[in-house]
Amino acid sequence: AEGLQKVVKRYKVLVKEKTGGEFPDDPRDQLRRSIMAVLSSWNNDRAIKYRRINRIEGLRGTAVNVQAMVFGNSGSNSSTGVCFTRNCENGVKEIYGDYLINAQGEDVVAGIRTPKHIGELEAEMPKNYKEIAKFLADLEKHYRDMQDIEFTVEDGKTFILQTRTGKRTPRAAVVIAVEMVEEGLITKEEAIKRVSPAQIDILLHPTFDPKAPRKPIAKGIPASPGAVVGEVVFSAEDAEKRVQEDAKVILVRKETSPEDIGGMNVAEGILTAVGGKASHAALVARGMGKCCVVGCGEIAIDYAAAQFTANGTVVKAGDVISVDGTSGEVMVGALPTIEEQNIAQYDILMGWVDELRTMKVRTNADTPEDAEIARKKFGAEGIGLCRTEHMFFGEEKIAPMREMILADDTAAREVALAKLLPIQRKDFEGIFTAMNGYPVTVRLLDPPLHEFLPHDEKSQRELAAEIGMDAKAIADKVASLHEMNPMLGHRGCRLGITYPEIIRMQARAIMEAACNVKAKGVDVLPEIMVPLIGTLAEFSITRAIIVDVCTKVIEEKKQPLDYLVGTMIEIPRAALIADQIAKEAQFFSFGTNDMTQMTFGYSRDDIGSFLPHYVAEGILKVDPFQTLDVDGVGQLVRMGTERGRGVRSDLKIGICGEHGGDPDSVKFCYSIGMDYVSCSPYRVPVAKLAVTQAALESPRG
Ligand code: PEP
Ligand code: MG
Repeated sequence: AEGLQKVVKRYKVLVKEKTGGEFPDDPRDQLRRSIMAVLSSWNNDRAIKYRRINRIEGLRGTAVNVQAMVFGNSGSNSSTGVCFTRNCENGVKEIYGDYLINAQGEDVVAGIRTPKHIGELEAEMPKNYKEIAKFLADLEKHYRDMQDIEFTVEDGKTFILQTRTGKRTPRAAVVIAVEMVEEGLITKEEAIKRVSPAQIDILLHPTFDPKAPRKPIAKGIPASPGAVVGEVVFSAEDAEKRVQEDAKVILVRKETSPEDIGGMNVAEGILTAVGGKASHAALVARGMGKCCVVGCGEIAIDYAAAQFTANGTVVKAGDVISVDGTSGEVMVGALPTIEEQNIAQYDILMGWVDELRTMKVRTNADTPEDAEIARKKFGAEGIGLCRTEHMFFGEEKIAPMREMILADDTAAREVALAKLLPIQRKDFEGIFTAMNGYPVTVRLLDPPLHEFLPHDEKSQRELAAEIGMDAKAIADKVASLHEMNPMLGHRGCRLGITYPEIIRMQARAIMEAACNVKAKGVDVLPEIMVPLIGTLAEFSITRAIIVDVCTKVIEEKKQPLDYLVGTMIEIPRAALIADQIAKEAQFFSFGTNDMTQMTFGYSRDDIGSFLPHYVAEGILKVDPFQTLDVDGVGQLVRMGTERGRGVRSDLKIGICGEHGGDPDSVKFCYSIGMDYVSCSPYRVPVAKLAVTQAALESPRG
């Protein structure tokens, strides 16, 4: 009692200090103020942030429940606790939670006293434990979901204070959903709705132990999930060298380019200072299933000093950092990780998703290995985008590519192309075989050519020695290919129209590979795709060359084969004239990376300096390179689809921009009637769940 008197005195001083008035003695006034405190908590910073993170919009406020007080602290015959009807960490069907004898709820949740495991209550208060267990079972059955409840025992009498649907880990979400179907409590459809695509994504990647304290030194744009630890390296070369010496590395670059691919491949994770969700680093890392944070404007890289500075912390090459690809955070030192989880219920749930799914999910894959993983491990139903430029990344493949670019005339270019032909053909054979029975969309060369050439003097000298060319001539060629806006420059179909021999080589490689594997019994369905069309003429010219080569190859090989020729719709103009294009194109694939770039006028590689600010300030609700901007870009996608189908009702339509793996964007694609979405292999299950949920929410006619 003495202690209480002291505490009450201190409380009163505190109330005066904070509110300027006396603590009210009138119980009605106390109650009124308590209610007001709850109501005004709706607009505190924490609540606003919580709603923003969870995208909770359109609510007008919160409610207040007023209950009679019961006292868990009225002696040793009283207790209080918080518990779940199932284990919220692993989903096991057991009562899970904590309690304290002679205490109030606050003592349990605030962590001031160490509570006991709920199981011990059975021995300490057997009658109450039995009652609580019965309440839990009834509440779960009534609400048909796992409940999180608070109870108090006052002088031997049990009270349930509150029940709500319990928060759970991704693993528990899957286990509980599946087991509740098996118990007959919910339907398969309900189980599918109860697991979020984001939870599936987390299950497929390692995460940092949420209990480990973390002090981020910087935060960037989370581009590909995962949790990685490694020593910092600043070049792809160093990455490869250190990995050979058995180190685990994180490649830190201002941005990445095709030259960095070797280093990216061996690194645990990738961190870049600039670039957005559709930048080179982001999409290559995602394809590799590798953790990646991009556009981390808070890090200032000094390559010469081999260090970066982040908000005052200096990190040198060789220092260990931890990178969280789900939150975008960067920490110094090694955080403990929890590995990718294998659970039997996941396979059952994904089986139901496949059973109820009505829209196809393909994958973006550029190598036979990725195609194999996407097909076997994730059940991708074909390839929606094979970026042929990514096939030139290997050491032995980049040399003839460079020779082709450096060629002075068509004859020299054809010599180099002849070397590239068998390399491409072999890769296509591998991809077609991995996708036996499923369609494969191969896109012709897309990026600006200078991306394949070395830009620093040292590598130019090395290349000169390698291919027997003058270093000065290489430097001159690199300079001549320089463009002010390479994303809007000599790339996409424009390359093939100015150098038709490139189209001819690629069409031949695709078709020879298709005929070769068909002869071995593979069911091959090639779809040749033209990038960056803005006018019908661009498509017609390119298509004519493709069809000419394909017809010849089919004749030469005496192997009749069906194939399609279609186009990316990624330039806004292409969406506007989709009716014209559909007269000649057999399919459309929306390239929403470029379409977002061109519709917003935001360079997809340079958004790190302003986009995080836009999102933080609410100028944009979400990063449009991650979640399709339905209001703007979405209009173009919808219009392109409608105009295309208006001309050709059976026009096959899909999406292959990074949005194809984003749950909200996938739901939009479903709603406008696309045939498929295509995304990186590791996002295939995420997309499958999202399209199935979309169909369950509002089935299309
Ligand atoms: C796109 O622009 O959306 C697309 C898929 O092509 P890329 O990302 O290769 O430019
Ligand atoms: Mg594109």
